[in-house]
Amino acid sequence: MRVLGIETSCDETAVAIVEAPAGSAPGGLILANVVYSQQTEHRRFGGVVPEIAARAHLERIDGLVEDALTEARLGLDDLDAIAATGGPGLIGGVMVGVMAAKGLAFAREKPFLAINHLEGHALTVRLTEQVEFPYLLLLVSGGHCQLLTVRGPGDFTRLGTTIDDAVGECFDKTAKLLGLGFPGGPAVERLARDGDAQRFSLPRPMWRKAGCDFSFSGLKTAVRQTVEKLDPDDERARADLCASFQRTVGDVLADRCANALAMAPSPTLVVAGGVAANLYLRGRLEEVAARNGARLVAPPVKLCTDNGAMIAWAGIERLRLGLTDALDFKPRPRWPLDASAPVRV
Ligand code: ATP
Ligand code: MG
Ligand code: FE
Repeated sequence: MRVLGIETSCDETAVAIVEAPAGSAPGGLILANVVYSQQTEHRRFGGVVPEIAARAHLERIDGLVEDALTEARLGLDDLDAIAATGGPGLIGGVMVGVMAAKGLAFAREKPFLAINHLEGHALTVRLTEQVEFPYLLLLVSGGHCQLLTVRGPGDFTRLGTTIDDAVGECFDKTAKLLGLGFPGGPAVERLARDGDAQRFSLPRPMWRKAGCDFSFSGLKTAVRQTVEKLDPDDERARADLCASFQRTVGDVLADRCANALAMAPSPTLVVAGGVAANLYLRGRLEEVAARNGARLVAPPVKLCTDNGAMIAWAGIERLRLGLTDALDFKPRPRWPLDASAPVRV
C-alpha cells in the first residue's frame, strides 16, 4: 500500500509518499520526501510566527504535493490513502494540511487519515528499523519531552513528561542567547564538539529523583545567567558552555531513561523527535540502554525533525488496522498522545 503524508504543524511544509506491504511488519520504502523549511521566513523574528507559517504552508502545499508525486513517478490514483497531521501544533498550519488532504481524499475517493504529529514521531523508527511493539520511547522535540510505552498506533502509556519546558526549546533558547540563530539544536551541537563539557557546572533538575518526569526551566535560567557573565568574544568559553549544557541534558535524559527502564522493562529504547538528531545525546542514551539490558534504536537523523515520511508511515500503520478518519475531522491544536484512543471505522 502507498500513503501520501502531509506535515504542516510548525514551520516545515512537508510531503512524502511511503510504500509498505499489508500486514503489520516494520519496514517501508520512501518513494518521495520533500520538505520546504520556512527558516528564511521566520529567521528575523527569532522564532516561528504562526500567521506567517500558515500563509507559507498555503503557498507551498499544492506545489509540494505535485513535486512528491513527480519524484515517486506516481499519479494520485496510485495512492491508497491520504494522511495529514491533524494536531497538535499551530492551528493555522494544521488546517492548511488537513484541508489539502481532505480535498485530495474526497476528490479521488481515498481514505483520509488524521495523524497525531507526536504519533508520527513515535512510530517513524519502524519505517526504517526492525522494531517490534511494544517499546519504550523517549520523545524529545521542540515542544515535548516524554517517556512512553508504545504498544501500537493510538496505544500509548505515558510514564513521565516535562513539568515545564521541552528539551528542544531549551536548545533553541541556549542558541538564541549565544546568538547562534534558529533552530538552535544543530548549532549548539556543532559548537559543543570543540568544547570542554566539564567547564560549567549547571543544575540538573529532577536528576536522581524518583519517577520519569522532567524539568528544564532551571537549566534554561542557569544558562542565561552564565551567558550574561560571558565575554561575547570568548569563543572558547562559548563552546565550553554549549558542551557543558549538552552534557547536563545528557545526564538528565540518561537518568530519567534508567528509571523508565526499571519501571517498564523493555528490550528496546527508542529515541525520536527533533532532539534525537543529536549524536552526542544518542551516545549517552546508548550507554544507559546497554547498562539496563536494552538496545537504543533511533530513526535516521533526517527523519528526526519534522517531515512528511513520518506522517505517511503512521498513516500506513493506521490504514493497516482500518483506523481511517471521517472528512469532518476537526484539527486539534492540543492532542495528547496517550488520549488518542483508536477509533475504528
Ligand atoms: P513537536 O514535535 O514537539 O510538536 P516541533 O515539531 O517543532 O515540536 P521537531 O521538529 O520535532 O519539533 O524538533 C525540532 C527541535 O529539535 C528544535 O527545538 C531543534 O532545536 C531541535 N533539534 C534539531 N536538531 C537538533 C540537534 N542536532 N541537537 C539538539 N536539538 C536539535
Ligand atoms: Mg521545525
Ligand atoms: Fe515535531
